[in-house]
Amino acid sequence: MKQLIQGGRLLTAGRLGGEPADLLIDGDTILAVLPPGESVTDDARRIDATNRLLIPGLVNAHTHATVHLSKAMADRWSLELLLNAYPWTAGGRTLEYKYLSARIGAVEMVRKGCTACYDLVAEIPAPSVEGVEAVARAYDDIGMRAVIAPMMADVSFYRAIPGLLDAMPPSLRERAEAVRPQPFDASLATCRQLLAKWSFDRDRLRPALAPTIPHHCSDEFIIGCRELAKQHGIGVQMHVAESKVQAVVGVKRYGTTLVGHLHKLGLLAPNFTAAHAIWLDDDDIGRLADAGASVAHNPGSNLKLGSGLAATRKFRDRGVTFGIGTDGCVSSDNLNMFEAMRMAAFGSRVQGPDPRDWLTAAEAFEAATIGGARALGMESRIGRLEPGYQADIVFLDLTSINYVPLNEPLLHVVFCEDGTGIDRVMIGGKIVVQGGRVLGVDMGKLATEAADAVARLAKINANARDFVQALEPVVLDYCVGLARAPYPVHRWCGH
Ligand SMILES: [Zn+2]
Repeated sequence: MKQLIQGGRLLTAGRLGGEPADLLIDGDTILAVLPPGESVTDDARRIDATNRLLIPGLVNAHTHATVHLSKAMADRWSLELLLNAYPWTAGGRTLEYKYLSARIGAVEMVRKGCTACYDLVAEIPAPSVEGVEAVARAYDDIGMRAVIAPMMADVSFYRAIPGLLDAMPPSLRERAEAVRPQPFDASLATCRQLLAKWSFDRDRLRPALAPTIPHHCSDEFIIGCRELAKQHGIGVQMHVAESKVQAVVGVKRYGTTLVGHLHKLGLLAPNFTAAHAIWLDDDDIGRLADAGASVAHNPGSNLKLGSGLAATRKFRDRGVTFGIGTDGCVSSDNLNMFEAMRMAAFGSRVQGPDPRDWLTAAEAFEAATIGGARALGMESRIGRLEPGYQADIVFLDLTSINYVPLNEPLLHVVFCEDGTGIDRVMIGGKIVVQGGRVLGVDMGKLATEAADAVARLAKINANARDFVQALEPVVLDYCVGLARAPYPVHRWCGH
């Protein structure tokens, strides 16, 4: 079926002025960008876009479906306190809760103009085929695109940080020592199974792999992921140098930076995405660029957890593609890509006094669209509104207060829009959001299901909560001590 979106204005890479244009769509694909009012002879269904600005669906380059039930649970946590608390905030998920948590995230993302994401699915105690499939089903049911990767480790958080176990009182140490992720070959076997039976439409839902953090994974595990990804032609995403503690531990453990270590292991490649990538030196940025790897930049999470500010100007200057992500709901806590895009622009501006070094609105917009598409490995299909690309379109209402009065459309999108100006969202030619509602979702029912799940999870995870809360002061003091150590970054990064 053909559809003609007429009477609107178009804002996409290469057309950042937001001039009037019509879009002809055939099925799920954009067939043509037409001058306004050009007659289309066949019987295309007309969609009136008067007073609407059409932009590509935003792409969330980094999130975690199974923690969306833990929205607004934590305040002053550093990354290390968050990782300590994971058995509490991410534990106890039945298959039903994994689906529900992913559904909550997908609803928020599409409602706020995001049409595709890269999801690192955290499962405790170990990744499972059914768990990842439950997440994929949730995205499928909402109609969203996603790259979905089981997030995995074979070293516990407590062992990953040298000296942390020794800093614990014996009563807590014993239990912390007993926390052991499953051996890596079992996780790789699960991944092989998952890849062999992946039944979702790969144009919309693709599998990937996520060995979570370099020093939480043995080298054998990382190499195993590298090889499996190569065999199947899929992506690998990993949290890299997210906090100063991680950077300090990396140098202690490997005698090189974390990126340097991954380079030695041969992981850096065009299918690789480094999430966060804050504590890098110039050589690291060069290695990522030379390998054609991408970065998933998560400014909201980085600010909330006090992790630091990524060197986005250097990424651009050195040719590292970067997308923008929200991260999961324990660390961001919303999944608002408009907000993330704005924070990416603003965060670049407190790194130095020269405005020529700051990200422009156009650069932030590019990162949230074509940069994210590249990180997802979908750059030839999404991120732009051009012939041959998927019809993933956000209709912004130019009569919403975010656009009154209308000056530079691009600056409104990056600096004023917060999702409240969204009129409709289309994915692959199909409307999924209309009039502020995600179609097919009963919000009252979703809220009740979520409240029931949260109440039940509080009971299931009570013991884990008590344990991680008892450990919190130890982790806090030890990690703050590590973070105060000098670390030789060659650039100013907020610390
Ligand atoms: Zn993350």
